[in-house]
Amino acid sequence: NRQIHLVKRPETIPTEEHFKFVEVPVPSLGENEVLIHNLYLSVDPYMRGRMSDQKSYVAPFNLNEKLVGGVVGEVVESSSSRFSKGDIVTGMLGWEEYSKATEKEIRKIDPNMAPVTTALGILGLTGLTAYFGIEDICRPKEGETVVVSGAAGAVGSTAGQIAKIFGARVVGIAGSDDKVNYIQKELGFDAAINYKTTDDIQAALEEACPNGVDAYFDNVGGEISDAVLNLLNKHARIAQCGAISSYNKPDDQGPRIQTKLIKSSALIKGFVVSDYSDRFKEGASNLGKWLSEGKLTYEETIVEGFENIPEAFLGLFKGTNRGKQLVKIGEP
Ligand code: NDP
Repeated sequence: NRQIHLVKRPETIPTEEHFKFVEVPVPSLGENEVLIHNLYLSVDPYMRGRMSDQKSYVAPFNLNEKLVGGVVGEVVESSSSRFSKGDIVTGMLGWEEYSKATEKEIRKIDPNMAPVTTALGILGLTGLTAYFGIEDICRPKEGETVVVSGAAGAVGSTAGQIAKIFGARVVGIAGSDDKVNYIQKELGFDAAINYKTTDDIQAALEEACPNGVDAYFDNVGGEISDAVLNLLNKHARIAQCGAISSYNKPDDQGPRIQTKLIKSSALIKGFVVSDYSDRFKEGASNLGKWLSEGKLTYEETIVEGFENIPEAFLGLFKGTNRGKQLVKIGEP
């Protein structure tokens, strides 16, 4: 049973030296527990925050212990009456091949409803993050302009499509021509900007948003957001979902935003998806409905092999993924 431990806290960009592969015994079960053979792991930008020891909304990972993240796996042994061998389950388990879990730590997923990987993406926390950021914070009205940064990633690609469902004009910002084409041609975004090849992001945004910006779903922060915030319309709304551009730069400050918010009477709200846990049912039901109606689509970038987990995680900071980044580590 291989595990991956965090052995050193990264100051800036993590590298392979911060992770260690460790061989441990397959755990044995106590009462009401299950043994899971892990099939898919989710790697997520927020895990970078847990690798530091700063206080946040989730506790830091402990050094010399396994990393923890979203997993889909198959029950291979069970002492619980609620789970049987062969059930497909999901939960926050470890970067490991076999996990032991209590009944409370996992939930069953129905492989006949949707591909099992969607539990880690569009029908899981990724989709819910996009849903609540748009539905509750951006609240786009018909014809308004919504800008999404990190627009070809897991959350951003979903947020932009949901803003379209609400009738908005959607402008995406992403880091390659392939991604810009994808969000325009396949996801129906109205305009898109490649921030890596555009010399003047401000000018490109002004051109893409001739009527200003009514709502901004921000995944990245940094200079991209500085430019977007210059274009806010009166009573604009900003869903502060992520700030990946600063995750590897602990001292990143950037320009001050107060004046920009006052000038536009804008509302900015940071959130974590778990703030909405009492509405997850509603969110999941709408996401499922839009998927089945073809109004929502999703993509997954799946890397194969347990040994490639760190590389897949580090790829998030280089933009190697389109849609949700997953790692396939086992066969059912
Ligand atoms: P993504 O699938 O969007 O992957 C990360 C993407 O970020 C990369 O593909 C890359 O795309 C882009 N990126 C990386 N570095 C930079 C940079 N310096 N500047 C601009 N873009 C960059 O990940 P997720 O969809 O899982 O997460 C997106 C954001 O949402 C993250 O900030 C994450 O922390 C946040 N989040 C917040 C949650 C919440 O509850 N508030 C829940 C889930 C996610 P590109 O090629 O375009 O650069």
